[in-house]
Amino acid sequence: MIPGTWYTLRLERIHYENDRTRIFHFCIEGPEFPHWKPGQFFVCDLPLGEKRAQRWRSYSIANPCTEGRQVEFCISFKEGGAASQFYFSDVREGDTIRCKGPEGNFTLPDHSGMPLTMVCTGTGIAPFRAMLSDIANRGHQYASVDLIFGVRNESEILYRKEIALWCSTIPRFRAIICLSRQHELPAPEHPGLVYHHGHVHQCYDSLLQQMEADRSQAQFLLCGWSAMIDQAVAALVTQHKVAGKNIRYELYG
Ligand SMILES: Cc1cc2nc3c(=O)[nH]c(=O)nc-3n(C[C@H](O)[C@H](O)[C@H](O)COP(=O)(O)OP(=O)(O)OC[C@H]3O[C@@H](n4cnc5c(N)ncnc54)[C@H](O)[C@@H]3O)c2cc1C
Repeated sequence: MIPGTWYTLRLERIHYENDRTRIFHFCIEGPEFPHWKPGQFFVCDLPLGEKRAQRWRSYSIANPCTEGRQVEFCISFKEGGAASQFYFSDVREGDTIRCKGPEGNFTLPDHSGMPLTMVCTGTGIAPFRAMLSDIANRGHQYASVDLIFGVRNESEILYRKEIALWCSTIPRFRAIICLSRQHELPAPEHPGLVYHHGHVHQCYDSLLQQMEADRSQAQFLLCGWSAMIDQAVAALVTQHKVAGKNIRYELYG
């Protein structure tokens, strides 16, 4: 697969996940198939203007490449954003868009035996959904896999049923869902699932404090917007002494 190859994606279905988030199910057209690794993204060329900077937007691929010709994007609405306008008002089922990729190095680390922690907010869950679906199918060699997922309230939890399912199907997997604006917490659907009132930062703090393995070897994957990622990287490196080389992140903006 040559990076930079262009593909045509036909929109098959839009799933209305909540007020601000939709899941877009596309089918790859043509004979070529882009073999992506879970966690990679596509660059979409959207009808938003003349210049590349106006037109191009990146989206994490939310499914592993073992699902036939399906490609899934999980996209949140940004007030006044040109791509948001396109995805939430203009595009229709049956329309096609051009995409380039797969791109990026935000993939599962090759460190068997180490604890792996995934931290995300909102649609930052997209690459982790691809990784965890892949892990659910093929297994893993990590000491543990923890997902820390931050949203404002229960209605914004994406892939909720799947997260509960992964708690029973993925060995040594736990999920902590952080609800920053909801005080009354729902009953967990599975013993491996915990609801927490607050932000993601308190959760990796306490995970690291409980960690039996050498913390400097703990593997972290972070995905979302700069406010969360900047704070998490600073805290992990300076406060918790996690080695910088063991922290990978995908910055959405
Ligand atoms: C590698 C990569 C993967 C990405 N994957 C996804 C994805 O899977 N799902 C997804 O929804 N977006 C994803 N994004 C963001 C996406 O590319 C667009 O920036 C987003 O859709 C907003 O585009 P826009 O034209 O509507 O707004 P713009 O006018 O381009 O947005 C302006 C800026 O606002 C910020 N911003 C945009 N959306 C938000 C938000 N929800 N919260 C806080 N700040 C925001 C960003 O800094 C952005 O550059 C990804 C970005 C990158 C770089």
